[in-house]
Amino acid sequence: MTIKLYNTLGREKQVFEPQDPDRVTLYVCGPTVYNYAHIGNARPAVVFDVLFRLLRHVYGAEHVVYARNITDVEDKIIARSIQDGTPIPEITRKYADIYNSDLAGLNVLAPTIEPWATQNIDGMVALTKQLVDKGYAYTAPSGVFFDVAKMADYGKLSGRNIEDNEAGARVAVSEEKRNPADFALWKFAKEGEPEDAIWDSPWGRGRPGWHIECSAMAAAHLGETIDIHAGGIDLQFPHHENEIAQSECAHGTPMARYWMHNGFLDMDGEKMSKSLGNVKLIHDLLADWPGEVLRMALLSGHYRAPLDWTRDLLEQAKTTLGRVYGALRRVWAAEGGTANDTAVLDALRDDLNTPIALAELARLASEANQAADAKDETRMATARANLLAAGELLGLLQLTPAEWEQGGSEDDKARIDALVQARVDARQAKNWAEADRIRNELAEEGIEIMDGPQGSTWRRV
Ligand code: AMP
Ligand code: ZN
Repeated sequence: MTIKLYNTLGREKQVFEPQDPDRVTLYVCGPTVYNYAHIGNARPAVVFDVLFRLLRHVYGAEHVVYARNITDVEDKIIARSIQDGTPIPEITRKYADIYNSDLAGLNVLAPTIEPWATQNIDGMVALTKQLVDKGYAYTAPSGVFFDVAKMADYGKLSGRNIEDNEAGARVAVSEEKRNPADFALWKFAKEGEPEDAIWDSPWGRGRPGWHIECSAMAAAHLGETIDIHAGGIDLQFPHHENEIAQSECAHGTPMARYWMHNGFLDMDGEKMSKSLGNVKLIHDLLADWPGEVLRMALLSGHYRAPLDWTRDLLEQAKTTLGRVYGALRRVWAAEGGTANDTAVLDALRDDLNTPIALAELARLASEANQAADAKDETRMATARANLLAAGELLGLLQLTPAEWEQGGSEDDKARIDALVQARVDARQAKNWAEADRIRNELAEEGIEIMDGPQGSTWRRV
């Protein structure tokens, strides 16, 4: 069964051929953990989670190794630590936990390996040493730099040449560099920087540069040549270009065979980003919307195209998903069927075409409704199995239809539970007016209370 992926290296869709089908390797650049992540940051996590699910389906779950790192040492983290007077590990632990629980709320599977930069410093020093020894790096007053002029094909991923580097550079060009595109492999510690961001090295005390972190962690955990390396389009240059430069000059082999990049999540036509301040935090969105609605919204566009994040997009996703769950509810009791429809899988095998996959999911829902209308138990069982198999690949339909109907966010559920309890209390106190008032208030939101022998429950109607 073939998978086709658009490879940034080569700029075309290619048939994916892993080096070893028993050990397919995927590396996705993870977050820098010093504050809450926004829904734009969730886009690569969700898109490449679909890829992870697809690879597991095709090669077998135990044959796919997925690493997504945590960058837990970086200028912004250090600044935050100094500003708040909080030790770095306290900051990074807290925000890494929030990141992972936010992603779990979007049904993102945990990666196989989650390497933390500070636990891989030795590998970063060793890689830097290899580059220094081979003549690809030089020492300057502020640190050790990679000398891009030494690499003949520097720029091959992004198609940029050495001259037009400044636009994407994270660090300001300094005079100590031989070439403006040179980048830090090792940064010497500065006065006043916290001890928990300083390590020894042959060149002086300091910390690794951001790019070398990924080169070292990918090699240590997945191998010198990996199958797929992925991240947001903004990482293509300079981050991924520099990862390639480091890894390939040190190891003499390609760093990754397929490079994949997701487009931006925009708001009002502009990239959602912390620096522009136009962000919606995953955490806040999860308080207002079911996680699967957010996930479906993220998957409603093709991963390489920009996607505009609007209320309309969310409403639409909620309606569509509600219809699918409605169909699933009608065939829910028909267990034991075998999935036989491959349209969702086929769409994903074609460079993760999630818009088509979601259209096919809607078609499977219609088939479930038709089977239920016809009261055809066999077709109902097949429709149920098809919906669940498609849901597994997409990371949707992970709730039971009953759970979906309870629906909403955790906060919302807690609020409704509290109102239902308040009504129970009012009835016990024979305060019928108050009990009716609460019932009416919930009815206006489309919530029906059902009084039974076990107490009161509720559902959305
Ligand atoms: P950062 O924490 O900025 O390094 O971002 C973490 C990941 O999120 C990277 O893969 C970025 O490319 C990606 N990313 C950040 N902002 C957006 C956005 N607005 N749309 C899509 N991906 C983004
Ligand atoms: Zn990286």
